[in-house]
Amino acid sequence: MYEFAVTPAVTQLRRPGVIITEVTPGSVGDELELRPHDRIVRVNGRSVRDYLDFRFQTAGETELTFRVKKPTGETVEIEFDREESEDLGLMFEQIVPRQCANECIFCFCKGNPADARPSLFVRDEDIRLSFLYGNYTALSSITPDEMNRIIEQRLTPQYVSVHATDLKTRAYLLGVDEKRADIFDKFQRLLDNDIEIHAQVVLCPEINDGKILEKTLRDLASHFPKVVSTAVVPVALTRYNTDERLTRVTPEFCRRTIHEVEKLQKEFRKTLGTTFAFLGDEIYIKAGMEIPSRRHYGNYPQIEDGVGMVRSFLNAFEKVLNRKDAETQRKENVRTHPNAMRPKSQLPTDNRQLPTGYGTILTGEMFAPTLSKQVDRYNRQRRMRLNVLAVPNTYFGGDVSVAGLLTGQDYLKVKDKIVGDFAIIPKHTIKSDEPILLDGMTFDKLKAAFPVPIYDLDTNGLIALLS
Ligand code: SF4
Repeated sequence: MYEFAVTPAVTQLRRPGVIITEVTPGSVGDELELRPHDRIVRVNGRSVRDYLDFRFQTAGETELTFRVKKPTGETVEIEFDREESEDLGLMFEQIVPRQCANECIFCFCKGNPADARPSLFVRDEDIRLSFLYGNYTALSSITPDEMNRIIEQRLTPQYVSVHATDLKTRAYLLGVDEKRADIFDKFQRLLDNDIEIHAQVVLCPEINDGKILEKTLRDLASHFPKVVSTAVVPVALTRYNTDERLTRVTPEFCRRTIHEVEKLQKEFRKTLGTTFAFLGDEIYIKAGMEIPSRRHYGNYPQIEDGVGMVRSFLNAFEKVLNRKDAETQRKENVRTHPNAMRPKSQLPTDNRQLPTGYGTILTGEMFAPTLSKQVDRYNRQRRMRLNVLAVPNTYFGGDVSVAGLLTGQDYLKVKDKIVGDFAIIPKHTIKSDEPILLDGMTFDKLKAAFPVPIYDLDTNGLIALLS
């Protein structure tokens, strides 16, 4: 499940063009008298649908003509020259995700409490977000125009939720008929046009596991290297998912899955030279089994889906303990296309000076034992007093124990257990474009209720702090 850093304005009427939100003082855009709320509707005569179009149509162009609609209703044409690599100094509204037309039986939107913040109910199926952020699409409701756009603009790689190559099973999981579930032609067209695909299987016990999973992984591997990798992640059910067709993931199920998939991984390494099919970290943790080695994950092709994050963290932590420069996670980013790079406003800006010494790191119950073990070693080595606190997720409940889904209410319930002079919470529990938590609590409200200052850090930030 992904949440988007967008206003959930999916019902708003979209006007053509892309709206400027910021203009850097002294930049080319400033000199051209472009201002926030101006809407660029054409670049060199070609229409602009969103900022991705804008970036494609301006890339490498030195002679540019913008047609701009001003908030007053006036339309102006601006012609200008620039150096090839000169930045225009413009920031734009974010892409509003297109809604999916599926009814997946495991959809996280069905597991939200009614009062969760509205953006958690956005069901996306958007090839642009797949290209930009690695969000998965099921491809089933992608239109011919969108398929053409992927190919024409080379929006590669794409991230596709396959779930099962057995059509009956896929249709059942997606809650649609077989005709809609069948993406074979679309998939093949992308591959024929050299669009790379990273696939995903949300593993639902007794539905797409066992033989069906084996067939899915073999079918996908037959398209390697155009299908670059496949992530197999376990279905996570909150206490609100009461659909009787779903079975919860147990430690025994995880052990069996590891055992079955390991055989295939071995085979793929031999024939393809890569593990190809990667199991989600949660599967190893729930099974009580060791996380595979660095070599297993190659260049971490599915790290943005939470696959290999624990290994990457452990290796980075080891370097901290060895007093070497810590490798940062996500160093290997599979999205290397220049137009998939995040605009400046979306880059982490967290470079604050944090206190060190005596404090509490809050995390989800899933990761807490791993983190705790490492922090204990760190404390012994550096004579520090950092404490790891596992926070139960009572808001979503059920199987949800990952750090990224903790809410303000969950943090408040454990605030009396915090020791030391500060607390660190996982950065991803705060909306990226607005300081609120998943249950709608503002970060300011949480800070005011806490006995010590709170800092929000991702694992890279934590590694940097400990370094
Ligand atoms: S594709 Fe399925 S899981 Fe994803 S948002 Fe749509 S219904 Fe939910």
